[in-house]
Amino acid sequence: MIEHPLTNDFPWHTASVDETIARLQTNQTNGLTDPEAGRRLTQAGPNTLAVERPESFWHEFFEELHEPMVLMLLVTGVLYAIWGEVSEAITIFVIILTLNTVEVTNEQRSKRAIASLRKLAEPTASVRRGGHFTELPVDQIVPGDVILLQDGRRVPADAHLVEVYSLSVDESALTGESLPVEKSAAFIANPETPLADRQNMVYSSTLVSRGKGWAVVVATGMSTEIGRIAGMAREVREPRTPLQNMMEELSKILVWFALGFSILVPLVGILLAHQPPKQMLLTGLSLAFATIPEEMPIIITMVLSLGAFRLSKKHAIARRLNAVESLGSVTVIATDKTGTLTENRMAVTRFEPAGAKERLLEIGVFCNDAVPDGMDFRGDAVDTALLRAAQTAGMDVSASRKARPIVAEFPFDNNRKCMSTVTRKDDHAWVAVKGAPESILPQCILKLDGKKVVSFDTAAKQAVLDCVDGMAADGLRVLALAERTLDAENLDLEIVESGLAFIGLVGLQDPPRPEVRQAIATCRRAGVRAIMITGDHPLTARAIARQVGLDGDFGVVTGPELDQLSDRELKETVRRVSIFARATPEHKLRIVQALQALGERVAVTGDGVNDAPALAAADIGVAMGETGTDVAREAGDLVLADDNFTTILHAVEEGRLIFENLKKGVRYYLACKVALIMINLLPTLLLVPVPFAPVQIILMELFMDLMAAASFVVEGPESDLLERKPRDPKAKFMDGAMIGGILTSALGLFIAITTVYLVTWYNTHDIAVSQTTAFFGWLIGHVLLAFNLRSERQPVFQAGLSSNRMMLAWAGAVAVFLLLVSVIPGARQLMKAAPLTGSQWSMILIATFIGTFWMEVKKRITFKK
Ligand code: ATP
Repeated sequence: MIEHPLTNDFPWHTASVDETIARLQTNQTNGLTDPEAGRRLTQAGPNTLAVERPESFWHEFFEELHEPMVLMLLVTGVLYAIWGEVSEAITIFVIILTLNTVEVTNEQRSKRAIASLRKLAEPTASVRRGGHFTELPVDQIVPGDVILLQDGRRVPADAHLVEVYSLSVDESALTGESLPVEKSAAFIANPETPLADRQNMVYSSTLVSRGKGWAVVVATGMSTEIGRIAGMAREVREPRTPLQNMMEELSKILVWFALGFSILVPLVGILLAHQPPKQMLLTGLSLAFATIPEEMPIIITMVLSLGAFRLSKKHAIARRLNAVESLGSVTVIATDKTGTLTENRMAVTRFEPAGAKERLLEIGVFCNDAVPDGMDFRGDAVDTALLRAAQTAGMDVSASRKARPIVAEFPFDNNRKCMSTVTRKDDHAWVAVKGAPESILPQCILKLDGKKVVSFDTAAKQAVLDCVDGMAADGLRVLALAERTLDAENLDLEIVESGLAFIGLVGLQDPPRPEVRQAIATCRRAGVRAIMITGDHPLTARAIARQVGLDGDFGVVTGPELDQLSDRELKETVRRVSIFARATPEHKLRIVQALQALGERVAVTGDGVNDAPALAAADIGVAMGETGTDVAREAGDLVLADDNFTTILHAVEEGRLIFENLKKGVRYYLACKVALIMINLLPTLLLVPVPFAPVQIILMELFMDLMAAASFVVEGPESDLLERKPRDPKAKFMDGAMIGGILTSALGLFIAITTVYLVTWYNTHDIAVSQTTAFFGWLIGHVLLAFNLRSERQPVFQAGLSSNRMMLAWAGAVAVFLLLVSVIPGARQLMKAAPLTGSQWSMILIATFIGTFWMEVKKRITFKK
């Protein structure tokens, strides 16, 4: 049994590799067995730092009771009780409970949605378990696990290095030192060696910035170095989105309007219309409660977080609500090629020259980062394709690699665009190199010609480059493979990757994803431009672009060509050209910035360590969930679970929908508030009694809030959602159209209900009957208005009245309520309602229908589809 990890203060950096493995009772080649790992997980606990304490329903419920709006309502209830109207008081308390429950449930729903997203975006770790190589959630890692460290990944736990290949780690998260630290598996004798100098250790939360290595985990969770610092109960706070801020500001302004009006109405009532003061006080309080738009920021948060949840169902995980908000305004999607536009299922289809196949495969097998996984291989798509090709050709990949272990390795990076390894072969150090032909050929001085090695002159190199072009034009990814032998074991990169003998070329095919063509066509219709930025050869890029229907009219510009352009020329170029090849992450960043300077809203994809700046600079950084590094994922706003271009389009579509629904919800909500103010104000100014009893107003607010918060979230897309241009990112949320929409909707409702009320009042002078017509009129009218505002351009009848089930359920609830209040005398009394005649009912129905559905006529005239 290993020592208990939580009490384990062993100075691991002073242990040799063998001692570490022995102490942790693990096995370097096979890792822990699954049952043993399970036991250790129970003992050590999950490997997590942040202890998330979800707040209980009741905790939040009582918190919510302190909100000013609720307090105001409580005061109203208490006043009712004091003045002997016990049944009204009880009604109000029931409403408070209902409202609070709904609000807390809504809030918890949002929080749960966000929390589940966070879980989806959590990183994984590569581990050897039971002789296999697997990806596990980081919290499953236990002491004794053998883990793989690769560039761009976070170190999942404290670990002792056992194998190291050009490994550098950025330990700033732990030590504050911003320069990456070179690592080695060397032995350190001094137990006092400070953390920053423990070269043979890596620590949880630090970042592999280069190279790769294997390590044995010595501590997990809170017993890691980072876990010990500060106890680390990190609270993850979601930053506010611009829209949330704007709403907060707006509702602060509107509060004063609502308050002013809630004071004005009772004052006029008492002083001029001689209404009973008690009644007017209650009216004022309930009006304040009903008209102050305190729900607005909550509606925004709800719509955004539930939208984010829906996005995740479509394989797009939003890391920030900000992304959900701005997705809909994206005008350019700049995408990688491999994996996003193509399937990332590479297969070797050409060896050039064909006679060198065996030599090429040998290099392919040894200069390779993929690892066996059952009958197949796991790792980079190029590397696994090469191993598969070798296996198909009859090579025993695992056995040959075991027989000649790697002595040194310079892993692939997309600036060098090549990788190399050194193994022992016939008493020599043998270097195998593979990479982009432009990177490899300049380093080659010799060339394999049949069985002989001859010198490699410029003309021969040109011939090879012509051959590369031919293969690339067929859509193949082309690698040049080369080798050299070294006598001395001087394993510097400059030496290893120079003086090479060129062996040949390998062509890999990666078919385009079948659905992408359609998606790119849809993008075009939706006013979104698709651009390809790839590290691959220009002709390969062009061939794939043609296959997926990407605009290639203005040719391909390569990274080296971009380097020659001034910022102004670059802007001109990105305006036209849609294919960029041999681009490095730095080029990607420049392209993004040039597009932004042209006023575009750019979504850009990225997977590598160096992609982080471009992802961060973009309006929407899209990281690859399958093949991306942790660095890219952390820098991204959106993570694609399936790496698929089509998913970005779906996300943009969903983003547009979310934004539209947000507008619809807010328009409805504010229209109701404005209408309510107008409906109360006019009779007051006419010195007619207020049209609603306080308890009625409170109930109206309850129904309205429920509606606005929940129903518009689930509204489906209007049929022309992807036929329109992206929304102008500079346009204000509260623009003229929005304000106009709010005012006209409010006006319609106001005219309908005021007409009903005043006609009844002047005819009957019966306050109970008149208020009942206004109350019922409002309940029916605000449902009809909601249905109407479900669509902005498409006629609602065309979209189908029943397509929003949530709204139907809510309308049903209002109908049942109306029915109960009109037929049950007790309920009627409670709601201060009186029985109505048939003609009063008819008047309500006709007035509210006309007052809300007049907009439908306009939609019918203007909607084209
Ligand atoms: P894409 O846009 O297609 O995803 P990328 O920008 O990710 O491409 P890289 O992966 O950086 O492109 O590859 C650039 C070039 O590096 C390739 O064209 C290829 O020649 C070479 N290359 C790619 N993968 C490897 C590898 N595993 N080993 C050696 N060379 C590679």
